[in-house]
Amino acid sequence: MKPAVGRFAPTPSGRMHLGNAFAYLLAWLSARSEDGEVVLRMEDLDTLRCTEEFAEGIREDLRWLGLRWDRETTPQRLRTEAYEAALETLKEKANVFPCWCTRGSLNLVNAPHATDGHPIHPASCRLRSAEERRKMKGDPAWRLEAPDLTIRFVDGVYGPYSENLKTGCGDFVLRRADGVFVYQLAVVVDDGAAGVTQVVRGCDLLSSTPRQIYLMRLLGLPEPKYWHVPMLTDGEGRKLSKRDAAMDLRQLRKEHKPEEIIGLLAYRSGLIDREEALSARELLGEFRWEKLKKEDIVVP
Ligand code: GLU
Repeated sequence: MKPAVGRFAPTPSGRMHLGNAFAYLLAWLSARSEDGEVVLRMEDLDTLRCTEEFAEGIREDLRWLGLRWDRETTPQRLRTEAYEAALETLKEKANVFPCWCTRGSLNLVNAPHATDGHPIHPASCRLRSAEERRKMKGDPAWRLEAPDLTIRFVDGVYGPYSENLKTGCGDFVLRRADGVFVYQLAVVVDDGAAGVTQVVRGCDLLSSTPRQIYLMRLLGLPEPKYWHVPMLTDGEGRKLSKRDAAMDLRQLRKEHKPEEIIGLLAYRSGLIDREEALSARELLGEFRWEKLKKEDIVVP
C-alpha cells in the first residue's frame, strides 16, 4: 500500500483559532497513525488578505502544539502556472466557458439555490454563441459546466455523501474575472501534486467535495480519502471564527500549555473519556476515528 500523505492547508489571512487547531490535530493524528507524512501548504490565493506574517504565526502555533509537518509545498500564490495548465486540460476535457456575470447580476436572477446557498448559475453565458462572446466587453471569469452527474463518496466521519452536480451545485467558477484562480481548482491541483492521500478538514467543506472529486477525475488525479470533522462552536451555536479573539491560539498560548489545549480538544470531541492534559504524541496511542463525535463541539 502507498504510504499515507496528509496535509495542513491553512489560509494565512488571520491568526489560527481553536477550530483550525482541531482540524490540524485530526489531520496529524490520521496521517501519523498510519505512519504517514504530513505536508503543509499555505492557501494564500487571496493575496490582499494573506500575509507572510500570518503564515509564520500559523507555523509557530503548529510547532507549539507539537504538530510537526515533513515538508512545506509551494504556496498557492506562486502556483499560477500549474493552475493555468490545469485550466487548459479542463478546457479540453469538459465544457469550460467564459462568463461575464457579476455577483450582483447573479443575485438578481431568480435562480434556484444550490445546497450551500449560492444561486445556481443560469445557462445564459454557457449558451452564448461565439459571435456574441466576441462582442462582450471586459475580462470574463471561466466556468465549468456542471453535468447531470451524481458524485458519490464515503466520508470517513459522516458516511455516504452524494450530490448531483447540475442540480446541487451548478456551473462553477474556476478562474475569476480578475485572473485569480479559485480555491476549488487550486486545492485539487495542489493535493494532486503533493500526492495527498487523506484530506481531513472542517465539515463546512463537505459540500465542496463533490466538485473537487469531479475536477480530480477530469484531471486524472487520484482521489484521496476524506474525513470532514465537526465544527467548534461557542455556547450559542455559532461557529468559531477568526473574529473570536479569546479562541485565538496566540491568546490561548498565554494562559495554557499545549497539552491542555490538546487534552481539551481530545476530551470534548470524544477521543479520550477523561479531561486531562496530554501531548499530541500521547494522544496518538489512543486515536481511533470511530471515537470522534459527529455533533458540533462546544468550547471552551
Ligand atoms: N484553506 C482552507 C481553510 O483554511 C482549507 C481548505 C482545505 O482543507 O481543503 O479553511
